[in-house]
Amino acid sequence: MSTIYCQGCGIEIQTTNPDQPGYAPSSALEREDVICKRCFRLKHYNEVQDVPYQDDDFLEMLNQISKNEGLVVQLVDIFDFNGSFISGLKRHTGNNPVILVGNKMDVLPKSVNPGKVKLWLKKAAKDQGLSVKDVFLISAEKNQGIEELSNEIDKYRKGKDVYVVGTTNVGKSTFINTLISNTSGVKDAITTSYFPGTTLGFIDIPLDERSSLYDTPGVIQRHQMAHYVSDQDLKVITPRKEIKTKVFQLNEEQTLYFGGLARLDFVAGDRTSFVCYFSNELPIHRTKLEKADELYENHLGELLSPPDAETMEKLPPLKGHTFKINEDKTDLVFSGLGWITIPEGDITVTAHVPEGVKVSLRDSLI
Ligand code: GDP
Repeated sequence: MSTIYCQGCGIEIQTTNPDQPGYAPSSALEREDVICKRCFRLKHYNEVQDVPYQDDDFLEMLNQISKNEGLVVQLVDIFDFNGSFISGLKRHTGNNPVILVGNKMDVLPKSVNPGKVKLWLKKAAKDQGLSVKDVFLISAEKNQGIEELSNEIDKYRKGKDVYVVGTTNVGKSTFINTLISNTSGVKDAITTSYFPGTTLGFIDIPLDERSSLYDTPGVIQRHQMAHYVSDQDLKVITPRKEIKTKVFQLNEEQTLYFGGLARLDFVAGDRTSFVCYFSNELPIHRTKLEKADELYENHLGELLSPPDAETMEKLPPLKGHTFKINEDKTDLVFSGLGWITIPEGDITVTAHVPEGVKVSLRDSLI
């Protein structure tokens, strides 16, 4: 078969894997203008679909931004900043200004102060070497904050193009689809066209006669929990509604299991309250540290679930990471799963996560 390219975005067409870039069913190859599944959905349903790219391809594509002038809009998942932030973005976007957008604000408990979250996001980006022009909080799904954001984008872009970047699962497709449907009249104007001067496709949504908003493909972050669980379990661990915090008063040598996907051992310290921010559907189970291993061996997938059977087949074994916490209030973050706020004190904990998933500490968000 000779190589065929998508008439929409220019990517090489493949017919084997629907979840990978450039997919088209074999039957589509008989047509004159072959377009990939992603462009097809955009053209016929006005819907942007995210396709994951391997990290290297993605970063290479991002490099194209540094050769152009425009505003970069980086979307992150507020619930999983560490897992969804693209580190080293600056290397790829050059001197173009960046604004940071925290999505999924609807899942944060109402007690959380949005101003504080914004400051926190700004500092967290700065700590990763990215100084951003501004920070916004939105809910793409609930259409909250989108209008203000789109007005500000218009101000910041100064007539130039806009590049929306983000890792998979941050809600980039939802965001762009909401933007498109909010902007009346634009619907018909959506085109899928070549990104100028490249063979790699960015989706092009015209803003006016001279400028466009480009949707770039989502980058895969390997250390997110999402990559290790079944679709069914992903639904359980992804918060859908405002998170109801669960507070556990623990003595040392007690353990919490988050389903069977993660575990926290309170190794040493005075009696302390641990505040847990996880999907309301994820069961948390308390036990004694001395019994924790046995419980896992005998009840994984039953009392300790998720994982379901499908996840269990691919889930790497849990690996422990020990932290001594004696500064201010600290969050212990399980990438893509949730976090635990630990108050000030002299505390040692061991956090267990499937090997490959990231655990990190940050100044408390709340
Ligand atoms: P993409 O991979 O970045 O394109 O992400 P999607 O747009 O496909 O969204 C990933 C998941 O996040 C889906 O399950 C969405 O329903 C969900 N999602 C997107 N935006 C929001 C939001 O504002 N709030 C909540 N709670 N979920 C969202």
